[in-house]
Amino acid sequence: MTDLITLAEIVESGLCIGCGLCQSIAGEDAVEIVMTPEGRLRPLEKAPVDPASLALINKVCPGLVVTGPDPDELAEGHAFDEMWGPLRQTVLGHAGDPVIRFQAAAGGGLTGLASFLLESGRVERVLHVTADPDQPMRSRATISTTPEQVLRASGSRYGPTAPLVEFLSLLEDGKPFAFVGKPCDVDAIRALEMEDPRVASLCRYKLSLVCGGASELGKSQDLLAGLGVEEPEVTLFRYRGYGNPGKTRIEVRDGRAWEFSYQEMWEDEGTWRLQFRCKICPDPIGELTDIAVLDCWPGGGPTGEDAGFNAFITRTAAGDELFQAAVAAGAIVVDGPVSARMLDDYQPHQVRKKRALAWRLQGMREAGVLTPAFERLRLDTFAYGADDPRAAGNLDGIKQRIASGRTRENPVRREGD
Ligand SMILES: Cc1cc2nc3c(=O)[nH]c(=O)nc-3n(C[C@H](O)[C@H](O)[C@H](O)COP(=O)(O)OP(=O)(O)OC[C@H]3O[C@@H](n4cnc5c(N)ncnc54)[C@H](O)[C@@H]3O)c2cc1C
Ligand code: SF4
Ligand code: SF4
Repeated sequence: MTDLITLAEIVESGLCIGCGLCQSIAGEDAVEIVMTPEGRLRPLEKAPVDPASLALINKVCPGLVVTGPDPDELAEGHAFDEMWGPLRQTVLGHAGDPVIRFQAAAGGGLTGLASFLLESGRVERVLHVTADPDQPMRSRATISTTPEQVLRASGSRYGPTAPLVEFLSLLEDGKPFAFVGKPCDVDAIRALEMEDPRVASLCRYKLSLVCGGASELGKSQDLLAGLGVEEPEVTLFRYRGYGNPGKTRIEVRDGRAWEFSYQEMWEDEGTWRLQFRCKICPDPIGELTDIAVLDCWPGGGPTGEDAGFNAFITRTAAGDELFQAAVAAGAIVVDGPVSARMLDDYQPHQVRKKRALAWRLQGMREAGVLTPAFERLRLDTFAYGADDPRAAGNLDGIKQRIASGRTRENPVRREGD
């Protein structure tokens, strides 16, 4: 039997993204997702994880394994793009409800779809994340049962999130639900689906945003430090929304408030504090989702505020059917078609990352560090050619990062301990 990889090895190798699925599998007595002093959500082992749970975690942890869509399962006649994967419908649109459209991160596509899932009775619950009411700069998993709750959880949470901490309890409850989250969360759910038949029957829809990477909490802490504000004073920390992209807005108890534009927040990549797993993410575009929903600013970034739009990519028969029903019910409004090359223009960073990834992984293997098994995502065929200077740049860059110790993480400690 192959040796199992421990949670400590996954974390200390920099491969954990903090999704929370290992806590859900091993149980909170053994594993608890905690905020570390470095501002990352990571699994703290409070008691030894039993071998059966660890074996399952080894098969589903998105830090160790991601397997792309099965080519045989892709229905004939639907488009497949080397960069973007399965593309059934790709359209521009937005939520039909103007309040959702305004308050949500972009066009309210995900909130519109999730609300429709509840209103139409297709599911009873939606698992996603929201601002922690007690610590609004942080996020926590939440289960919405009404469209109002879904709307309250709309918007992008750019810091650490662990949406899957209660995933197995939802399976045990036995009621149909939908999941909305990041692509890596859906990748973990899809891997679990291969091991546990309840996932396919109960987690009926898996929707995701398209993701440029999740920051450590330090990104938000830096912002507060610049304002001279302590975290306990914060009553609102909204990253975007109330417009597209809307402002990052911070409110504190004494009534003061600050706003920052999207450009002020994200123009300087040096301030992002991205987690290492995001730098080697094989599927930031949600190839395993039923519907992936993304920003659609030509050139890759906003030049001002707009009324709120999304691009939608339906990837499965279930996603296709849901999308059509949501449009028919007015929950989603379609503005026009989108081609794969327009998606490239909306998301140039995703194209660069996909082309770089095989070289980054090669660098990890050459450096002899624990390297995940990312399969069926066309990383080799889509990679920069060996004679392209960007190939060597990515290969050498990751090896230097490894040699300098910047990909390693400390053993997990709880913030404040
Ligand atoms: C970390 C991060 C990076 C992103 N990078 C990109 C990118 O590179 N390109 C791009 O097109 N879009 C990116 N987005 C997504 C973008 O901000 C919008 O969320 C997306 O366009 C969907 O818009 P919407 O109006 O449909 O979302 P909404 O209707 O506001 O719905 C957002 C949904 O996502 C859930 N959610 C929010 N944050 C998280 C999180 N951290 N983890 C799990 N679930 C979450 C919420 O619970 C909510 O259900 C990113 C979002 C995040 C959180
Ligand atoms: S990525 Fe998820 S499943 Fe893997 S160790 Fe981290 S929290 Fe656990
Ligand atoms: S970039 Fe990938 S690993 Fe990082 S949060 Fe996004 S989907 Fe997850």
